[in-house]
Amino acid sequence: CGVVGIWNAADAAALAALGLHALQHRGQEAAGIVALSEKGEFNAHRGQGLVGDTFSSAKVMAGLPGRTAVGHNRYATTGETALRNVQPLYAEFEFGGLAVAHNGNLTNANVLKRALVRRGCLFQSTTDSEVFIHLIAISLYANVIDRLIDALKQVQGAYSLIALHDGAMIGARDPLGVRPLVLGRLGPAEGGSWVLASETCALDIVGADFVRDVEPGELVVIDHNGLRSIRPFGRVQSRFCIFEYIYFARPDSVVEGTNVYEVRKRIGAELSRESGVEADVIVPVPDSGVPAAMGYAAESGIPFELGIIRNHYVGRTFIEPTDQIRNLGVKLKHSANRPMIEGKRVILVDDSIVRGTTSRKIVEMVRAAGAKEVHMRISSPPTTHPCFYGIDTPERAKLLAANHDVEEMARIIGADSLAFISLDGLYRALGQDKRDASKPSYCDACFTGDYAIPLTDLVGHAERV
Ligand code: 5GP
Ligand code: SF4
Ligand code: MG
Repeated sequence: CGVVGIWNAADAAALAALGLHALQHRGQEAAGIVALSEKGEFNAHRGQGLVGDTFSSAKVMAGLPGRTAVGHNRYATTGETALRNVQPLYAEFEFGGLAVAHNGNLTNANVLKRALVRRGCLFQSTTDSEVFIHLIAISLYANVIDRLIDALKQVQGAYSLIALHDGAMIGARDPLGVRPLVLGRLGPAEGGSWVLASETCALDIVGADFVRDVEPGELVVIDHNGLRSIRPFGRVQSRFCIFEYIYFARPDSVVEGTNVYEVRKRIGAELSRESGVEADVIVPVPDSGVPAAMGYAAESGIPFELGIIRNHYVGRTFIEPTDQIRNLGVKLKHSANRPMIEGKRVILVDDSIVRGTTSRKIVEMVRAAGAKEVHMRISSPPTTHPCFYGIDTPERAKLLAANHDVEEMARIIGADSLAFISLDGLYRALGQDKRDASKPSYCDACFTGDYAIPLTDLVGHAERV
């Protein structure tokens, strides 16, 4: 998901909509904005589909007045596709209204939910995020910040969230900092306008200056006194999601001081050094494979060509619900650019193989366009484990790499050869010598099975891990 918060700026809801637009890649299923008017009233608008579908009419925007707003793009990892699951969530408490936008996935939400329901809490949605609302509601602390901290101390999992109430906007990241969250400033410093967002690309679009990342385990509280930082958790080694660098974040975003596009090019260069092969042309699987393919081409000296053209009017295939639609989607999405492929030895570069659907279709298409050889290179290690921290991967039984070795996978996708970046190569691309197994600095559980946050809801479901 993508989250954005605007504090004390004219047309806050419009700025939030722009931010969500820049974060569209983080979730295309639904979008919502809750705005706080200068009279202290909360107004909300939510809708299925893309940001532009929901927030393009002047009438809708006129219904969201005020200088403060929080927005959310939904990418479903829990709960069905229904309007009641569209965030930001909003509830009224003794202390007033509170809106919450959450990116990530909680790993003990079901356990907490069972206990909350037993205590009489009435859940309105099926998203894991709603437990925040109920934990805040039943907390015995007097003020809203303490109640929020109380809630955060009970949840396990990944969260980057933005909460908004009458007196303050709060940004928080889980102690391991699995999902990103950045802080920006809009206009003159004395004006006191602040922006919180999943990625810096959302700051860029509203013209905000990047201030810093919200740190793992940190709460930033923005109110009429300015900004203060609270650290309710002890410091631990952070574990930012390495897959954000590989695929999820937008290439122009800067995460932990590093431009995502640069990292992707470096991964491509590592991949070329690790598993180079003689070929005539490097072809990216667009769009996600492009930066890695550029790095691969620059390192190997083999020419880079757009041998596959992507139709931009189709959403990301991965997000469609059924296998049948997914199969269809891939064909709708990519076409071979024949002259760049015919009679050539082609190296295809993509970011990941999950079920193998994309790779199989692309290899078949490139062969049908007359390629002499097709070599597949992947800028992530094999995806052997599901993600439970906010990226929607299927269960193990459906993960190609969980059930086949690389040689078998090459056969299944129909490639002459297949290679993945090594785990150490990936860490090298991020500026380290190798992965320090005793103290890894990223979450890489989908490639290693090293789940740093307990999977409490899965106890008794070992087959899914
Ligand atoms: P597969 O077709 O093997 O199941 O999935 C691999 C393809 O899906 C790759 O081209 C990759 O770019 C894309 N992909 C990988 N992870 C995700 C994800 O979390 N969301 C979306 N939308 N696409 C993904
Ligand atoms: Fe990211 Fe993979 Fe960890 Fe999920 S399991 S948070 S996708 S690195
Ligand atoms: Mg892709």
